[in-house]
Amino acid sequence: MENKNFDVIIIGGSYAGLSAGMSLGRSLRNVLIIDSGKSCNRQTPHSHNFITHDGKAPTEIAKLAKEDVAKYKTVRFYNGTVVKTRKTNDGFEIETSSGENFHAKKLILASGVKDIMPDIPGFAECWGISVLHCPYCHGYEVKNEITGILSNGDMAYEFSKLIFNLTKKLTLFTNGKAVLSKEQSEKLEQNKITVNEDEIKEIKHENGSVRKIIFKNGQEVSLQALYAKIPFEQNVNASDDLGCERTEQGFIKIDMMHKTNIPGVFACGDNVTMMRSVANAIAQGNFAGAVVNKELSDETF
Ligand code: FAD
Ligand code: MG
Repeated sequence: MENKNFDVIIIGGSYAGLSAGMSLGRSLRNVLIIDSGKSCNRQTPHSHNFITHDGKAPTEIAKLAKEDVAKYKTVRFYNGTVVKTRKTNDGFEIETSSGENFHAKKLILASGVKDIMPDIPGFAECWGISVLHCPYCHGYEVKNEITGILSNGDMAYEFSKLIFNLTKKLTLFTNGKAVLSKEQSEKLEQNKITVNEDEIKEIKHENGSVRKIIFKNGQEVSLQALYAKIPFEQNVNASDDLGCERTEQGFIKIDMMHKTNIPGVFACGDNVTMMRSVANAIAQGNFAGAVVNKELSDETF
């Protein structure tokens, strides 16, 4: 790519990044969107809960989004991975894994997060297909089915409450000793939600559709869907390189305007919120793009 200097570089060209790119492209900003093509929902066959695209494949939504953004000639795309980010006296310089450097006045981190799969054979293969991260995205499709929740502690309790509205055939699998208060245990029992503390050995599935949980003690339980709360890590070291603060839960810390603690660096999408949805990522990108454009206008007018 000939031009190395941009008004804005967006790291991550999925829903949040493309949406920010649209706000900025329509404002005639020179934008570079760098994307490594690994959206967190890529294994999910159908994406739900986003009006106008309900039930479409995530890749199709992303493809249509990219086509829309590509109409704006000031927006350029680069397929690759940002490996280094550095502050310069007039902005930021980034380096890609293939050794290319680009410069911009402002940076938007739209890099999502990486879910860390537990060490349970079968889990990763079912992720996003029948092992589910979110009842809003996938709960309706498995309503009233025999369902498990793989979680523990307060999160498991909150998840049980939410999912109970979608199915009454519900078991909580804590994969080891349950960490629940007396009140929580009593409430679960009142609602006939069994708590199973057995340690899980494996998830048996057919092409990602869960069939059974096999336990280390030899027991088995058949089921049709399993919700799971798993840990995540940030995708980019950009936030570390630059010294962007994190929240206690591991999200990049931003203010109401999507500004990080580093002037000129903004963040939007899954990397800043536990409310993970395509619609929310798009809304956040749209807003962050506008804030960055305003800042550029304020600085040059
Ligand atoms: P992502 O979509 O994760 O994209 C981040 C992008 O940044 C990726 O393309 C990645 O390659 C790129 N990137 C990261 N680091 C770098 C780097 N260093 N250099 C260059 N590029 C980089 N939401 C719904 O609304 N409905 C659903 O049905 C639904 N199903 C889901 C199923 C699963 C299994 C999961 C995990 C999530 C699901 N979600 C769903 C949530 C939704 O996918 C996310 O909220 C959404 O993808 C967030 O968009 P994002 O742009 O912030 O991040
Ligand atoms: Mg993500």
